[in-house]
Amino acid sequence: AGNEGVRYAKALDTASGALRAVGTGDQLKGIISNLVEHTHRMVEQNRAANARLSESGDEIATLKARMAEVREEALKDPLTGLVNRRGFAESMTAAMRDAAEDNTPLSLLMLDIDNFKQFNDQHGHQIGDQVICLVADCAKANIKGRDTASRYGGEEFAILLPNTNITGAKQLAEQIRKAVANQKIVRKSTRQQLGTVTVSIGVAQYRPGESDEALSARADAALYVAKNGGRNQVKGEAPLRREMALR
Ligand code: GH3
Ligand code: MG
Ligand code: MG
Repeated sequence: AGNEGVRYAKALDTASGALRAVGTGDQLKGIISNLVEHTHRMVEQNRAANARLSESGDEIATLKARMAEVREEALKDPLTGLVNRRGFAESMTAAMRDAAEDNTPLSLLMLDIDNFKQFNDQHGHQIGDQVICLVADCAKANIKGRDTASRYGGEEFAILLPNTNITGAKQLAEQIRKAVANQKIVRKSTRQQLGTVTVSIGVAQYRPGESDEALSARADAALYVAKNGGRNQVKGEAPLRREMALR
C-alpha cells in the first residue's frame, strides 16, 4: 500500500504538470483517464491491505488468548488444580506489596502431610496422589476471596491469607488440620478402609519490609516445631523478643 501511495503521488504530480500545459480536450481526457486508472489501482491496493490487516488482527487476538491460557497453565499444578510454586511466588509478591501499601495484615501457612513416605510405601503412590488432592480440597474448602492455596512442593502446601493476622491464620489452619484428620480414606476399587492422614502446619505473619524468604523461613520454622511436637498440630511463629518488639 505504501509503494502504491508513492506511485499515486507521482501520477498526481505528473498530471498537475500536464494540466498546466494542457492544450486540447483530447490531452485533458488522456490525463484524466490516467488519473482514474491510478486511483482504481490505489483503491484496490488499499482494499487488499485492509483485508490483510484484519486477518492479522484476528491472528493477534487468537495468539493473545492462547498466551493467556499458556500462562495460566504454567502457574497451575495439574494434579490438584491449585497454583504451583511459581504461581505462588507471584501471589506472594503482590500480597506483600498490598499489605505494605494498605497497612493490612498478611499471614502465611506452611502445611506438610505427616509421615507421607510411610503412607506411600504402604498404599502406593497413586493413592498417595489422591491423598494430596484430598488435602488440597480441604485447603480450598476453608479459604475464600483473595486467599491463595498453592502446592508448594510434592506434599507441601503454602497458603497465603491477606487481611488476616496470626490469630485468625492459626484458627484457619486449625480448621484445615481438623478437616484433613476427619477424612476417612477408602480405596475406591475394594472399599478397603485405609485410615486417616494428618497434616502439620506452621503459621507466620508478614512484617512490613521483610523479604518473602524471611516470611517463608519463619512459617517453615513453625512447621518444624509442629513436626517435632508430635505432628497433627498447628504452631505459630516464635513471638518477637520483647526488647525487639518495643523498638
Ligand atoms: P514428615 O511427617 O516428617 O513430613 O514425614 P514425611 O514422610 O511426610 O516426610 P518426607 O519429606 O520424609 O517424605 C515426603 C514424602 O512424600 C516422600 C514421597 O514419598 C512423598 N511424596 C512427595 N511428593 C509426592 C507426590 O507428588 N505424590 C506422592 N504420592 N507422594 C509424594
Ligand atoms: Mg515434606
Ligand atoms: Mg511430610
